[in-house]
Amino acid sequence: MKKLSVVVPCYNEQETVEKFYDTAVPVLDRSDMDYEIIFVNDGSRDKTLEKLTALSQKDTRVKVINFSRNFGQQAAILCGFRHSSGDCVVELDCDLQDPIEVVLEMLDKWREGYDVIHGRRKIRHGESFFKKFTAKIYYKFLAKISSFEMPRNTGDFKLLDRRVVDVICNMPEHEKYLRGLESWVGFKQTFVDFDRAERVAGETHYSLKKMINLAKAGIVSNSNYPLSLGFKFGLLLSFLSVAGFITLIVLLATGVYSNLVAWLFPTVGLLFGIKFVIDAIGNLYLGKVYDEVKNRPEYIVSDKINLEK
Ligand code: UDP
Ligand code: MG
Repeated sequence: MKKLSVVVPCYNEQETVEKFYDTAVPVLDRSDMDYEIIFVNDGSRDKTLEKLTALSQKDTRVKVINFSRNFGQQAAILCGFRHSSGDCVVELDCDLQDPIEVVLEMLDKWREGYDVIHGRRKIRHGESFFKKFTAKIYYKFLAKISSFEMPRNTGDFKLLDRRVVDVICNMPEHEKYLRGLESWVGFKQTFVDFDRAERVAGETHYSLKKMINLAKAGIVSNSNYPLSLGFKFGLLLSFLSVAGFITLIVLLATGVYSNLVAWLFPTVGLLFGIKFVIDAIGNLYLGKVYDEVKNRPEYIVSDKINLEK
């Protein structure tokens, strides 16, 4: 019998882990697959680990990986991938926003021969207008500046064939923006539409700061376009300066003089503003290169349960 690995990142999910398990098991039992559920505890500070440990003691298909601290959802998913042994792997959130029944539809597509099956959100319940609006603009922008097509309205809820998981796990770059890489790898890709439910309990762990960091990682790891902005602005400003000098000479030569000095201050301010922004973009990439050179691990595992040490 073929095997499915279910990877679930958990950060302060004491209220949802048991609900997730109780909902997932009867559905997965209908899948005609062997399965394992790999919970990755991403440095939770509540009772998540205790609850996961109890689940793993009553069901050995439940595997637990405990991080030494909070490394973020992307690192947790990657670690789950690396410890998975299924013929295909599905990644989904602990809060039941990604409906488990959809995994059965994804498995049908996998059996048809697809390698990457993206869960595509049709309706997003329980998410603020701000989150939906900024996400829409951001993904439009990302699609424009990326060298490949980023599928719209998809998140981390996907089913991947083993060969895709292996490719991703063996990629040498450290800060992996998985939802980008999973499209970038190619292979046979398709979608399953679903309505995203509200969180079953607890609250989102994506603060504005975490959202901005993920958004920055998405841009820096998928596109070098922002680096070319300095060249374009520089060229434009040089042309404008030449035009400005010519105008100045004509004004002086024809004796039509207005107080040009007054223009100087806002112009210089604007130019410095643009220059600082462009330098900051360059530094963002420099920081990413520095992180890669340091070669630190993406996460640190402190303990494992029901998995080989
Ligand atoms: N998560 C994680 N580490 C983090 C933040 C979140 O492992 O630093 C997990 C979280 O427990 C959940 C999933 O990632 O299973 C999605 O997080 P959340 O529901 O808070 O995000 P949202 O659905 O609001 O975007
Ligand atoms: Mg959620």
